[in-house]
Amino acid sequence: MLKGKCLCGAVTYQYNAAIQQSILCFCTDCKKAQGAVFGWNSPIQQSEFQLLSGQSVLKEYFHTENKARVFCMQCGSPIYSYRTDLPSILRLRLGTVTSGRIPAPSELAYRESQPDFMCIDTEML
Ligand SMILES: [Zn+2]
Ligand SMILES: [Zn+2]
Repeated sequence: MLKGKCLCGAVTYQYNAAIQQSILCFCTDCKKAQGAVFGWNSPIQQSEFQLLSGQSVLKEYFHTENKARVFCMQCGSPIYSYRTDLPSILRLRLGTVTSGRIPAPSELAYRESQPDFMCIDTEML
C-alpha cells in the first residue's frame, strides 16, 4: 500500500496495491508540467486508487486531446495523468508519494532530452 499528498495537503490519496514499475521521462511536456528535469511516474490501476480528500481542488488540464493531467489547483502539485481512451490506467506522479515502496526506475523515456550534466547509473535499473 502507498500513500501520498500534494504540497498543500488538500489532496490525499492511497493506492491499495503495489507499484510494479517506475519511469523517468525526459520529454519536454513532462519537464514543463513538473517544472523539473524529468517526470517520475508509474502506471497504476485506477480501480485501486482511492482519493481520500481534495476532490474539489483537483483540476484536469488537457494539453493534448486525449490526455488529462490532474493537479491540485491550490498548490499546483501534479497528482496523476490518464488517457481518455484508457481510463483504467492512471500515471501517478511519484514525487507526491509520502509512504510505501517505489521501485527504482525500469525505463528512461526520451533520453535524448536528458541534460548532459545528469548521469544515471543504469546498472541500478
Ligand atoms: Zn495542494
Ligand atoms: Zn514525458
